[in-house]
Amino acid sequence: MKSWDDFGVSIFSKMTEEATKAGAINLAQGFPDFDGPKEIIDEAVVALRSGFNQYAPSRGHRDLRLAIAHHFEKRRHLSYHPDKEVCVFSGASEALFCAVMSLCREGEIITFEPFFDVYPGYALAAGAQFKTVALQAPHWNFDVESLEKAISPKTKAILLNTPHNPTGKVFSRTELESIAKLAIQHDILVITDEVYEEIVFETHEHISMAQIPGMKERTLLITSASKTYSVTGWKVGYALGAEDLLSKMRIVHEHIVFCSASPLQKAVVKALQLPEQYYYDLRRDYLQKRNLLFDALTQAGFKCFHPQGSYFIIADYSDISDSDDVDFAIWLTRNAKVACIPLSSFYLDKELAKTKHLVRFCFAKTFDTLMKSAKLLDQAFNESFVR
Ligand code: PMP
Ligand code: GLN
Repeated sequence: MKSWDDFGVSIFSKMTEEATKAGAINLAQGFPDFDGPKEIIDEAVVALRSGFNQYAPSRGHRDLRLAIAHHFEKRRHLSYHPDKEVCVFSGASEALFCAVMSLCREGEIITFEPFFDVYPGYALAAGAQFKTVALQAPHWNFDVESLEKAISPKTKAILLNTPHNPTGKVFSRTELESIAKLAIQHDILVITDEVYEEIVFETHEHISMAQIPGMKERTLLITSASKTYSVTGWKVGYALGAEDLLSKMRIVHEHIVFCSASPLQKAVVKALQLPEQYYYDLRRDYLQKRNLLFDALTQAGFKCFHPQGSYFIIADYSDISDSDDVDFAIWLTRNAKVACIPLSSFYLDKELAKTKHLVRFCFAKTFDTLMKSAKLLDQAFNESFVR
């Protein structure tokens, strides 16, 4: 990706448009088709009616920064100064962009592939080289030696997304420690993308890189309200990290958007105060939803990879079709009326990845939507539907 001309329309816009045109259920773009908790929506309304309609302080409302610091202390035993080490951004996306722009300019960034599709654009904007290390199916393991080989004197940061989109991999403590060892040895930063931090299943536990001994000072912990509180349209994200790093990110933020949406920041204070039960219920519901969609896809003839976290399932359709993944995703949307994302969108070499016969489905939907999807898949593949 050498210029913005190489990018084109994002796969999320493309597949959502395909789904709308076909009247299909959108299991492509990752967003819940239900609202976040009523109390936080109500709080946003209160904030809108209470005069929080002008610019917020650039680094975020102080009560939100306090709530963020408190939340991470409580849930991850990580202590950050609310004025110096916490900043609010327009979604995790803007925080990641500001981190790359301020800390990786003209250097190199390493991430695991497949990767969330926006990362290469951030590298391009920063004039940084974007390097990848493969996650190998079916368990999405990586080779530590390959990671070490990818590191050079120009490497500024490893961009680590866990729980991982699109694979659903949750990096284990051992894996995090092996990455941490290299980061310390080569004196590089770790920029984390932890937006799915609360969506983990069974025995899998989300561990932030900042919790690994010796890593807090060289980790920028980035996450957002989008997934945890089912408000992807709010775009309220936050970064936590050492003052010298965060202050550099804040300058980019201040000169790009200045601040994120003021009334929604107020509502996120309320979200961060939700009781432990909220997170328990979130995980329980998503586990049931994962299982429902997993079974429906398996019954329809897909071979699914077991996600450990996030709200995505990767499915291999090679027993169903030998089309490339883009053609298959469009075909499925138009014919079965269930939309998905071709996995090649998350690879640098898209032509090669297209032949892996993999697509991604999102299960952040109501039980009703998922049952309807299951029925449509059943009709398409089990009721002698002819392609
Ligand atoms: N990172 C990953 C891995 C994501 O899947 C998303 C989803 N949109 C984001 C970042 C963006 O988060 P936000 O909505 O907070 O910008
Ligand atoms: N993160 C979401 C996904 O992976 C959607 C992001 C977007 O629409 N830009 O589907």
